[in-house]
Amino acid sequence: MDKIYLDNAATTPLSEEVIDAMVSVMKVTYGNPSSTHSFGQEAKILIEKTRREVADYLHVTPSEIIFTSCGTESNNMIIKSCVDHLGVQRIITSPLEHKCVAETVLEMKNRRGVEVVYLRPDQKGDLDLAKLEELLKNSDKKTLVSLMHANNEIGNLLDIKKVAEICKENNTLFHSDTVQSMAHMDLDFSQIPVDFASCSAHKFHGPKGSGFAFIRKSSGLKGIITGGPQERSLRAGTENVCGIVGLGKALELSLKNMSDYASHIKEIKNYAIEKLAAEIEGVKFNGRSAEEGSLYTVLSVLLPFKDPMIGLKLDMNGIAISQGSACSSGASKPSMVMMMILDEEEMDNSTPLRISFSHLTTKKDIDALIDALKKIASDSKIEKTNIEHR
Ligand code: PLP
Repeated sequence: MDKIYLDNAATTPLSEEVIDAMVSVMKVTYGNPSSTHSFGQEAKILIEKTRREVADYLHVTPSEIIFTSCGTESNNMIIKSCVDHLGVQRIITSPLEHKCVAETVLEMKNRRGVEVVYLRPDQKGDLDLAKLEELLKNSDKKTLVSLMHANNEIGNLLDIKKVAEICKENNTLFHSDTVQSMAHMDLDFSQIPVDFASCSAHKFHGPKGSGFAFIRKSSGLKGIITGGPQERSLRAGTENVCGIVGLGKALELSLKNMSDYASHIKEIKNYAIEKLAAEIEGVKFNGRSAEEGSLYTVLSVLLPFKDPMIGLKLDMNGIAISQGSACSSGASKPSMVMMMILDEEEMDNSTPLRISFSHLTTKKDIDALIDALKKIASDSKIEKTNIEHR
């Protein structure tokens, strides 16, 4: 059976070119970048080249890019350091954030006594930015706003520029978890006055265990991992040279092909929307995922029947797909994002499914998914009728 991969928001397969670049570092450029001899300096040169490429993409200066182990570490570092080193007393966030932001914010509340205010989303998953403005205008507390750019479950895009401008006008720090949008969209931080952002290479065909934090120089943020002076003393520890080079190669490929990849994926996404609507009666799409204003790599579907085993059943049919975020899969509780945007009836009688695409996804993959879903839907109908007649 040919296996089908439709879980690219969880992670993406490594590109061949990325593997080659990383293997070369592992075999040849194995020096410690902090060493002053030539082996070390060769490794250091590769890191600085990547840092410059990342900085050019974001229109920032290289010293504002700090390599980390992943998106989770970047988000942790930013939020924790804002509280510990910049005196943040209040965090305004939303219940739609990824667990690595949500749990970190909660920890800051429980362990540091930080006030946490949640902006509640409406049924489309949109946030009330007028409310944000009001909250910022009516308090003197040192505040961090932490709102993700592209939602990993429903794909909703935040108007990051507008939020950054609101925060700037109100002298407030702004962090955006940009893990899902980095390398998939143009991001110009010389025009978007965001203070902090995060990136994870495995979301765009780079390696796992490699990411970075964007830290605006003027913010004065400090690191939370202490030790050596690596990464301008903001993140101690010998750099993952191979991972950083892999991130750089993956970014280079993503940027070079961005418009081709985006138009291919948008075509596949539209095909999936039309075909699902035509072939599965009663299907709906969550948040803005089937509309403008959503990340093109994500489509969140609401199937008109209840089947908590859907992921397993599709996997048995050779199709890898998530119901929501990979970090929450296996959890018995429904996802917070779904709880926020679905009503009780929808929660009781339907099943969310997240299709996430890459440039490698084909229409045939979508056809196979829809065939499998139709079979599962019809089995579920038969099962329901049997239960009713028992
Ligand atoms: N933020 C978002 C929006 C994500 O989707 C993810 C990964 O699923 C992360 C953060 C965490 O990234 P990492 O897997 O690199 O820790």
